[in-house]
Amino acid sequence: MGQRAVFLDRDGTVNRQVGYPNHVSRLHVYPFTAEAIRKLNDRGIPVIVVTNQSGVARGLYPESVVHETNARLEEELAGGGAKIDAIYYCPHHPTAGDAPTACDCRKPETGMADRAAREHDIDLARSFLVGDSPSDIELARRAGMRSVLVLTGYGLGEVTYRRELWESEPDCISENLNTAVDWILSRIDKENDQ
Ligand SMILES: [Mg+2]
Repeated sequence: MGQRAVFLDRDGTVNRQVGYPNHVSRLHVYPFTAEAIRKLNDRGIPVIVVTNQSGVARGLYPESVVHETNARLEEELAGGGAKIDAIYYCPHHPTAGDAPTACDCRKPETGMADRAAREHDIDLARSFLVGDSPSDIELARRAGMRSVLVLTGYGLGEVTYRRELWESEPDCISENLNTAVDWILSRIDKENDQ
């Protein structure tokens, strides 16, 4: 049996949502993120980031910006004593840009989670996902993970104005990544009790 992991959306969950993140200077990590990830690190739970970056397919920024931004994110988190185990991104879009690509990795498709599961021996059925968008929650449902919707990023607007349109409901709605991690750890503790 594979190990349990926590999957995190990037923009709007780990760092501020800024429209298309088309330059590394637009990365603003939330002040609570390092603490949240550290709690998972301390428990030995792998932390996997899965992020849609269709700005690449749309021709808004080169793929190098995704790498640069992810590297800066890891560097800032390291400064706070926190570590991400892997980052997966989808640069595609099914219709936009010069090279539209129908892929299996753009959330809510499960390609990134499936790949992470293979490469890191993860049991998705025991894993959790935290995100600020309905597509994150739908990915979790399709992959058999439990999910938390955070109210940062698009979350609050989604809960307030669009909830009846969601394809699936999260298991929990939480203020931010840090409170979401607390909820996840309390669920894990309960399961370990049984
Ligand atoms: Mg997001």
